[in-house]
Amino acid sequence: MSFMSKSPWVIHYDASSCNGCDIEVLATLCPGFDAERFGVINTGNPKHADIFLVTGSVNSRNIHVIREIYNQMPEPKAVIACGCCACEGGVFHDCYNVIGGVDRAIPVDVYAPGCAVRPEALIDAIVEAEKVLEEKYEAMKKGEHAPIIPLDAPVLKKGA
Ligand code: SF4
Repeated sequence: MSFMSKSPWVIHYDASSCNGCDIEVLATLCPGFDAERFGVINTGNPKHADIFLVTGSVNSRNIHVIREIYNQMPEPKAVIACGCCACEGGVFHDCYNVIGGVDRAIPVDVYAPGCAVRPEALIDAIVEAEKVLEEKYEAMKKGEHAPIIPLDAPVLKKGA
């Protein structure tokens, strides 16, 4: 049976966004764009989530939180960087405490740029992430697994 015969559940974390992208994430899930009609449910529990939606850039305080949520998610799991800040730091890239995009903390599977990211782009990214989940599910059967990222691990290489 295909893994994605089930609907994907998402968890959203606001790293350090201006809240512009968070509003678009909500718009994606609420009746206007209604990703829920495809069974995309927003859960607050990482252990129930298939897809990790991150808005905002990574900084020295939230990098541990992002890694904690990622590590708690069951496999297969996919990560979407939502908005330019999450993709590569965006307008906050040269702030004193900003490290960069989400891929400096954890592996990112899909980049959904935009300032703010548009709900249409998020829906496309979720569809893309479903393909990634299917591939990872097949890889798991061959013994390949997602890494556990220690909270205090060094910053990852950009795009790793
Ligand atoms: S990408 Fe734009 S809207 Fe989204 S968090 Fe960054 S500054 Fe705000």
